[in-house]
Amino acid sequence: MNAPVLVINCGSSSIKYALIDSTLETPRLAGLAERLGTPQARLKGKNSAGESFIQALPGADHAKALNAILDRLEGRLPVAVGHRIVHGGERFTQAALITGDVLEAIQATAALAPLHNPANLAGIEATQTVFAELPQVAVFDTAFHQTLPPKAYRYALPEAFYTEHGIRRYGFHGTSHAFVSRRAAELSERGEGGWLTAHLGNGCSTAAVWQGKSVDTSMGLTPLEGLVMGTRSGDVDPGLHAHLHRQLGWSLDEIDDVLNKRSGLLGLSGLTNDMREIEEKALEGHAGASLALEVFCYRIAKSLAALSCALPVLDGVIFTGGIGENSPIVRARVLELLPHFGFALDDAANEATIRGGEGAIGKAGHTGPEAWVIPTDEEGRIALETRQCLETFL
Ligand code: AMP
Repeated sequence: MNAPVLVINCGSSSIKYALIDSTLETPRLAGLAERLGTPQARLKGKNSAGESFIQALPGADHAKALNAILDRLEGRLPVAVGHRIVHGGERFTQAALITGDVLEAIQATAALAPLHNPANLAGIEATQTVFAELPQVAVFDTAFHQTLPPKAYRYALPEAFYTEHGIRRYGFHGTSHAFVSRRAAELSERGEGGWLTAHLGNGCSTAAVWQGKSVDTSMGLTPLEGLVMGTRSGDVDPGLHAHLHRQLGWSLDEIDDVLNKRSGLLGLSGLTNDMREIEEKALEGHAGASLALEVFCYRIAKSLAALSCALPVLDGVIFTGGIGENSPIVRARVLELLPHFGFALDDAANEATIRGGEGAIGKAGHTGPEAWVIPTDEEGRIALETRQCLETFL
């Protein structure tokens, strides 16, 4: 099956799309419909010649935007649609062909991802009207982490929290951790083994992958747990919520808002959530930016060290995501903070591996754990899982 798969990632006011053939080749027909439901709605993207376009779609909803996307596929009709779904709860351990029953199950997990799952569902419904004849597949951000053992996914809370309310660690960015760990197993002589993966973008998470299976990860019930992110705090003392409420009179919504939208690199630096700017200002001596960079790297190293407990053997670390793929500074600082692990960074390779570059950044011939930069391809992975699901079910 070589015909392309249309990968769709629906937010409440946006649709990201990419048409991907079985070779996962680039450049792709891809783009973003944004500001949907407003007079400024528009579609921007690239055609097959790699040329950019912007098309105004005033007032367009998801269905109108999907029709405009269809017009941009240059007559290359997809064989299926693969949807990125943020939360699959415990039910979905792999991609699923979308049926009424699957839609109900996604709906049922909406309480666990109130910002994302309803938007993902709206996207599926609109896609079913526009691409009525195509099979649709749901690919879940959480599915790759369903192999975590209880010691990694249970919180130390009363049992009923888990059994009655599904409160446990789920983990996210699963398609990315799956993609880069699989790719490392292809590229490295170590093959499948024990890999630590660091997805560092606007959202950041780490994972421990043993023989192709996720065995622990830094995100939890929600994508707020774990590392410092662009605007998210990551781990804080769970007592903070009660403190803010009792001492400062903050409401739950205000606490949620500050931890998700005003913390992380932005909160620490007082400047920005953008790592490029943090690095520039830190070099100029800005105290907030320097601190943000220091805390960000320290927390990644601390998380990788903690996750190494999940691996019988450590074969290497993989950096990915906008920061992981483009910041030699962050990669070098993180590895410097793990001297007892025996990484051996090749400074020249580290400096050179940016902007989509893929490769080892550890010294050649080194017998300790390896270090790699592997650009993630979440959309390519969604297309692949969509194809595999169709081969199984159709
Ligand atoms: P993502 O969410 O994967 O697109 O990643 C976004 C993050 O990557 C932002 O914090 C960007 O500042 C960061 N980023 C992109 N390019 C660079 C770069 N050249 N150096 C440092 N950070 C970068």
